[in-house]
Amino acid sequence: MTRLLDRVEALRARITRACEAAGRDPGAVELLPVSKRQPLELIGEAAALGFTRFGENYVQEGADKAKARPDLDFTLLGPLQRNKAKPALEAFAEIQTVDRVELAQRLGRLAEQLGLHRGIWIQMDLWHEASKVGGCAEADLPDLLEAIQAAPRLDLKGLMAIPPPEDANAFAQFAGLRDALEQRLGRSLRLSMGMSGDLETAIAAGSDQIRIGTAFFGERQN
Ligand SMILES: *Cc1c(COP(=O)(O)O)cnc(C)c1O
Repeated sequence: MTRLLDRVEALRARITRACEAAGRDPGAVELLPVSKRQPLELIGEAAALGFTRFGENYVQEGADKAKARPDLDFTLLGPLQRNKAKPALEAFAEIQTVDRVELAQRLGRLAEQLGLHRGIWIQMDLWHEASKVGGCAEADLPDLLEAIQAAPRLDLKGLMAIPPPEDANAFAQFAGLRDALEQRLGRSLRLSMGMSGDLETAIAAGSDQIRIGTAFFGERQN
């Protein structure tokens, strides 16, 4: 417990410093602990500190953890194949990696059949790195938005991306896209960007949610 608490306190200090430097309210930046390849016991320790929502990358691992801890919420951060859409909807309260029309349509249909409402984020790739991490190209965004808006049980929360590390311009570019989209849709959208190594860059660019794995839990297991 002590080591986790130490890490979380160090992290909170980093977040506070980054917010002060950016003139932002630290309370406005959500810290999402990423518990992929971390044991349930550590999730339990984090829950004891008050964290109730965790990010996971693999459908099966996340489903196992969600089953073991029905009192907690899990968010999917890893790539989602269409054939895993059903277990993903059942296990995760939110899915951040919706990046193509066929996936959004399938999730929408299944959510209807299963009688579930789910939070959805669009994963964007403005930097042509999709081969590595997935993500929707800017040109494909209108069709994807349309598919999500046509699905009444999918609630669009915001945009997620993994900008190239150390590239402040890339983070600013992504924030600019979010701002333009908010204008166009006339509603607010959250921005999920920033990980252990680049949370300061992300906060400076306006991130609303940082997804933190190793700086929160320590090194991952294999
Ligand atoms: C693993 C992962 C994180 C957390 O990464 P750390 O560098 O350990 O903080 C955040 N977002 C996504 C999409 C991830 O896959």
